[in-house]
Amino acid sequence: MDQRKGKNSISSKRYNRGLVLRLIASGECSSRIQLSRTTRLAKMTVSNIVSEFLDRGLIEESEEELTEACGRNPRKLTLSENAPKAAGLLIFRDRIEAVLCTLDLKILDTEHVYFQELTGEKMMEYSFQVLDRILEKEENILGIGAAVIGPVDTREGILLNPPRFYGIENIKILEALKSRYPFPVYLDHDNNSAALAEKLYGAGKKCQDFLFLGISNGIGSGIISRGEVYHSIRGLSPEIGHVSIDCGGPLCSCGSRGCLELYANTHVVLNKLRSVTGLPLEFGEFFQLKDHQGAEEILSQMVRDISAALISTMNLFNPELIVLGHDCMDWSDKYVEMLEDLINEKKMAQGQERIPVRKAHFGKNAQLAGAAANVVNQVFQGKLLFS
Ligand SMILES: [Zn+2]
Repeated sequence: MDQRKGKNSISSKRYNRGLVLRLIASGECSSRIQLSRTTRLAKMTVSNIVSEFLDRGLIEESEEELTEACGRNPRKLTLSENAPKAAGLLIFRDRIEAVLCTLDLKILDTEHVYFQELTGEKMMEYSFQVLDRILEKEENILGIGAAVIGPVDTREGILLNPPRFYGIENIKILEALKSRYPFPVYLDHDNNSAALAEKLYGAGKKCQDFLFLGISNGIGSGIISRGEVYHSIRGLSPEIGHVSIDCGGPLCSCGSRGCLELYANTHVVLNKLRSVTGLPLEFGEFFQLKDHQGAEEILSQMVRDISAALISTMNLFNPELIVLGHDCMDWSDKYVEMLEDLINEKKMAQGQERIPVRKAHFGKNAQLAGAAANVVNQVFQGKLLFS
């Protein structure tokens, strides 16, 4: 289905409002006439929705005339600065962050707590701390979106048992947030959330099917399928870090052998780089080394390992694009291109178009913006803000 087409029935009022707001917020449409053409809604319907949005202060009409003049003086429609905001909460292995975002996912403010130890109780205490501080800064909040490391049961909103996460398991995050805050709360996996941000406003804006690959001290993924975040019926997210690239390889914490995460997570690769080169550099700095054979061999092997898991995954769902996030933002172009070459040389569907590999538009903030995107997406689907 073309996700830019409107629906012409009374029951679809909310859907159409979400759609029109998305098209304006994303800059895809900036006049009534463009909105009408894109959504195929009647001009009168679009005009009524736009008037309602102007009255509610969701959008603004600027004096600037559009060059593509069609009809009388079309004025440019943009998101209003006074439009409501989305709050986000991000739970990582080393920090908990809160964010305040506009509906077009501009980050207005952040708060964070770093830690080296954590309990389930502390995790919620820190989450409340950073969220309380963020919520004090804005009165017009639509909701809270949480993005958390996996595995997470997105259906019930429960953080299950992430490896290397201080032994914390089975925390009912959604319930805890809902009982503390008077807003709607949504929760998803951190990389699903990042994929959603990239779908709404980033590298995947024009794609219906793509994979977001987030590599840090763990390796995770988020999948956009047919324009929506892919969720299994059991609420679990795709975990590319646990795709095996060697079934006789070392034992992984998940119980399988030879999982990608054991070979290519940042911690493992960085340790190899430091011990082979003897250089106490940070991960990103190794990409800046010129003609260092030892470092290049380790980084190339990292890319080959990642390509092996990616090819298996791609052969399963044939995405249009791969988006790299997290520590992949440090990669030099040479390694991004190497990954793109490898996956395209070996993918099954050879006759098909080349699958590009791109870095995340939101960079290292993709998961953080993604937390807020979980709220914004509800608005654009007509499930929030338009009752
Ligand atoms: Zn594993």
